[in-house]
Amino acid sequence: MPVLCYHAIDPAWRSPLAISPDAFARQCAWVSRHRRVVSLSEVVDRVNGAVRLPRGVTALTFDDGFDTLYTHAMPILREHGLAATVFLVAGTLATGRPAVDWVDDPPPQPLGTLNRNQVLEMREAGITFGSHSLAHHDLTLLGEDECERDLRESRELLEDLLGHPVRWLAYPRGRHNERVRRAASRAGFTHAFTLPTGPEPRGAHALPRVGIWPKDGINALRAKTSDWYLGVRTSRMFPLAAAVRHLGRVGVPA
Ligand SMILES: [Zn+2]
Repeated sequence: MPVLCYHAIDPAWRSPLAISPDAFARQCAWVSRHRRVVSLSEVVDRVNGAVRLPRGVTALTFDDGFDTLYTHAMPILREHGLAATVFLVAGTLATGRPAVDWVDDPPPQPLGTLNRNQVLEMREAGITFGSHSLAHHDLTLLGEDECERDLRESRELLEDLLGHPVRWLAYPRGRHNERVRRAASRAGFTHAFTLPTGPEPRGAHALPRVGIWPKDGINALRAKTSDWYLGVRTSRMFPLAAAVRHLGRVGVPA
């Protein structure tokens, strides 16, 4: 089942991570008409084998916890009655609130992240939250103990704020390996989400999501929310299929 991964919904930031509120509103209008959007807990129940979901089901997630989610995404999600989960960089909620330093192409003005009151207000509106680690480090570059400490601390910080267990994680930049998956489990996460660009192992600590980027129109959204998409995108044959499509586009002399 396709779980979509967004980042910022921002009218001013031109970045692969930012989708304009207008484009996001069009996408939400389309998915609410053509797909059944479920909560991430329903996705997790399906992974656990507790429920069977019909075809045409999708879920919405947001990584990084930019504050534009509060100002621009939440009103649109509410208008369409769509469930969503935000994966927060837990360190940004701690005292001192460190700045966003993990973005490759930041805008001239500093990027803001959700504050504690906004998170609590969003929770009251039905948004659920998971961890996106403590400081958005590439977890594959940390030792296993250091990785476990980072993830455990992120979970405890979020649980202190939210007052309930936080059991879901999204790996920063989707990067993970066997060591990271083991650390995530030991740090108390029951499920962890990735962002595959090719074949990768699957399991409760490697649940694939599909990234939605600014160039994606409704046709891309239709494809990316189809039940076949992830299987094709993460297939070993995908680079070959993409190359054949590319040759088709450029026109190969007969
Ligand atoms: Zn991220």
